Amino acid sequence: MNSKDPRTLLTTVFNHSSFRPQQEEIIENVLAGKNTLAILPTGAGKSLCFQIPALIFDGLTVVVSPLIALMKDQVDNLKRRGVLDAAYINSMLDQRKKERIYELLKESQLKMLYVAPETFVDNKLMSILQSCTISFIAIDEVHCISIWGHNFRPDYLRLKKIIRALHEPPILGLTATATKTVEEDIQVQLGVTCDAFKDSFDRKNFLFSVLTVKSSRVKEEFLKGLLENLTGSAIVYVNFTRTAEDLAGYLSKEGLSASFYHGQMEKEARKNVQNAFMRGETKIIAATSAFGMGIDKEDIRTIIHYNLPKSIEAYYQEVGRAGRDGNISNCILLYSEGDEIKLRKLITWNTPEAKQIKAVLDLLQRHGGNLIYVNTKRLANTLGLDEVSVRLMLHHLEEKGAIKTHFKIFRRAKIRLTDTDLDGGAEVERIVRSRYFREHKWMDLKELGAALGMSIARINWLFRNLEAAGKIELAESDVCIPVHINSGIAGIDAGQIRDMFLKLERSGLKKIDRVVEYVRSGECRRRFLLRYFGEDYNRLCNACDRCNPFLKLGAEGKERERDVVDARDKAGVGDDLSKEVLTDRAERAKEKETIPLRLPVEAAGSIGDGKSLELFNELKKWRRDVAAQKKIPPYCVFHNSTLIGIANQLPKTKKELEGIKGIGRRRIEAYGDEILRIVNGT
Ligand code: ADP
Ligand code: MG
Repeated sequence: MNSKDPRTLLTTVFNHSSFRPQQEEIIENVLAGKNTLAILPTGAGKSLCFQIPALIFDGLTVVVSPLIALMKDQVDNLKRRGVLDAAYINSMLDQRKKERIYELLKESQLKMLYVAPETFVDNKLMSILQSCTISFIAIDEVHCISIWGHNFRPDYLRLKKIIRALHEPPILGLTATATKTVEEDIQVQLGVTCDAFKDSFDRKNFLFSVLTVKSSRVKEEFLKGLLENLTGSAIVYVNFTRTAEDLAGYLSKEGLSASFYHGQMEKEARKNVQNAFMRGETKIIAATSAFGMGIDKEDIRTIIHYNLPKSIEAYYQEVGRAGRDGNISNCILLYSEGDEIKLRKLITWNTPEAKQIKAVLDLLQRHGGNLIYVNTKRLANTLGLDEVSVRLMLHHLEEKGAIKTHFKIFRRAKIRLTDTDLDGGAEVERIVRSRYFREHKWMDLKELGAALGMSIARINWLFRNLEAAGKIELAESDVCIPVHINSGIAGIDAGQIRDMFLKLERSGLKKIDRVVEYVRSGECRRRFLLRYFGEDYNRLCNACDRCNPFLKLGAEGKERERDVVDARDKAGVGDDLSKEVLTDRAERAKEKETIPLRLPVEAAGSIGDGKSLELFNELKKWRRDVAAQKKIPPYCVFHNSTLIGIANQLPKTKKELEGIKGIGRRRIEAYGDEILRIVNGT
């Protein structure tokens, strides 16, 4: 072990003067080589709990992290602090970069490796890791392993196998989800027993309020009013991607600096939106739950739940992104009955029907005793199921011993040779000489493998090596899970599986019940939330709409900000809080001076007639040229919806152009003349 102690590292590397609650205890436990569970609220500083031991241990620390963008941030951050022996590996990384990391691993040059859970499917990574000395495995957002949690990810279920394959190093699980069920399930699913460390979930700087709204129209206007009067950055959480887009469109049109974010967006677009928010250029993000996990922006002042959250833990995790700087932050939930109904429907829709389950089971039973390749995405599509449901079924069957799943493979490949001398050994020779080998065409690797007596996994491996060596260009498709079906499959009853899904559905609905209880309860909001996480709160909160009349929302919403500040001052909630209110106020005054940027927002639009279609196509052609010239994606020039707006409204002057959604001063300056020229056909 390194001579450095945790406290020295805390100050020298991380520049913090003291540990926060539980950090030191967790670090000590990890250093003692014990399995540990760190249950701390969002923003408490969980990352340090694995980063410090990683720097102390001699071996490699593997950090499992669900979010690709986040990994890069953390590694970049570490590098800025002088920790150069950290790296990350995920499916977005090209083979050459992966190969470089493999080399570093083989030479024991890395202290910390961040890995996305789905990356473990890579046999090569696994076999290299198997020969490394692993100090411990940190699993961030470890509640993702539990179907009883609020953010289940099937890839996490493989971790138990991976831990075993890596000779069972100690585990550190980290999460901000603290219900007892999830805490226990995490340990069952990982196959380890942990010492759990927990700190209070109370966030003293949060103001909680709830408002019941009748119609969505009213809600939209109310939201606008709220946001106009609350300064600082805000996230508005919604349940559907469409709502995120619509709301951002509406808010932008109303002159607010708003953008949207959801999982269906292109990666590049997502990154741009997030970066603009981090830099403070966009003030408001309307987002689905895809936004925010691990976002480290200190000064988010407001979290509004525009739709009912799916669970209290999801709610608390999402509001947890506010106020990391310790300043007063608003957590506002807007409830409408329509949302609740929709949410319940969503849960029931996701439950597979008996005949869908039977179809999957039939398929597997037909192949009893064999190895088959299951493309879970395609199978799910064919049966009208959610892919997660298919993955869950496979997991259930594996637990019952009826099947055994292996690492994912790709069954089809397209290759371009970039080097005449492949130099890949006898196996590669045989592949290239086979009559099934064709350059530039999609090849069926099952056929190829059968002809040559090689496994698909082996061919995958050989191809990836050739790609890494720069000998070929490789495209992969038809990604499948190899599934070995045991004879035990015959004894599995579809009803059993259906029961599991029904249980899951009931649990999902119960979670919604609890959120509705939160909305309706007359009790102190803080006490309700903390009790949910197993904590007694008996002090005077004075910072929720139940304890403090000034925090009530409603028609007087516009007055809220002033009232809140007054209320906190009047209520005398302690000197430090009043001070915070004051700094908060000063900051707000500062923020008000910055001019909000209007960002373009994509919204559904339609083309009026043939003539405008022609114009639309012309505008698109122009946009393509501009984008190519500036080397930016076309939507950064203009969104489709904006082009549609132009084609429909035929603006004649810059003033008219300005009236179209998605066009601000900047764009008019940059493109106004050209657009008017195209529209006017001159
Ligand atoms: P979590 O993962 O628990 O949500 P993070 O690890 O992202 O939290 O840390 C949140 C913030 O707290 C980061 O900006 C981090 O630098 C800061 N932080 C962590 N530990 C300390 C500490 N002991 N003192 C001061 N700041 C800290
Ligand atoms: Mg974290």
